[in-house]
Amino acid sequence: MFQLVGDLSVDTGSWFRELYDTVESWIHTKKVFDPAAPEERMEDSVAEAVYELDRCIECGCCIAACGTARMRPDFLGAAGINKVGRFLIDPRDERTEADYYEILGTDMGIFGCMGLLACEDVCPKHMPLQDQLGFLRRKMGITALKNFFGK
Ligand code: SF4
Ligand code: SF4
Repeated sequence: MFQLVGDLSVDTGSWFRELYDTVESWIHTKKVFDPAAPEERMEDSVAEAVYELDRCIECGCCIAACGTARMRPDFLGAAGINKVGRFLIDPRDERTEADYYEILGTDMGIFGCMGLLACEDVCPKHMPLQDQLGFLRRKMGITALKNFFGK
């Protein structure tokens, strides 16, 4: 959880920096960046979906309200899980479902979530956290089954 700075002030920045290192919060691609090349296009609907998940202001309210985050200091929380979901739908990111499972497929990730949705209730940006948690739980559940049956 967040380190107390003083009175009611907490340090959310260090927590989020550590989180983004853990979830590798950047586009993973083997393409070499060419500043002279035209920007890569993506479908408007995909760009809007990515933007929707990028609206998080890192206020930390969803983490502070989360029962699992209180019990598990390594829990990614709704903001972290949402961040992984943002990269999962980004066509520029070349990570596979197995790569995402490495990050999310544990009690530190989506399987630690108790689903009581305090995160959704307190988010000042009205991020679609409930949808994200449901979507990623289903996606990671299917990946777990595929891993189990070796498909
Ligand atoms: S639904 Fe999951 S992420 Fe949201 S507050 Fe509850 S345990 Fe935390
Ligand atoms: S409460 Fe909403 S805006 Fe704040 S960190 Fe969580 S997801 Fe982001």
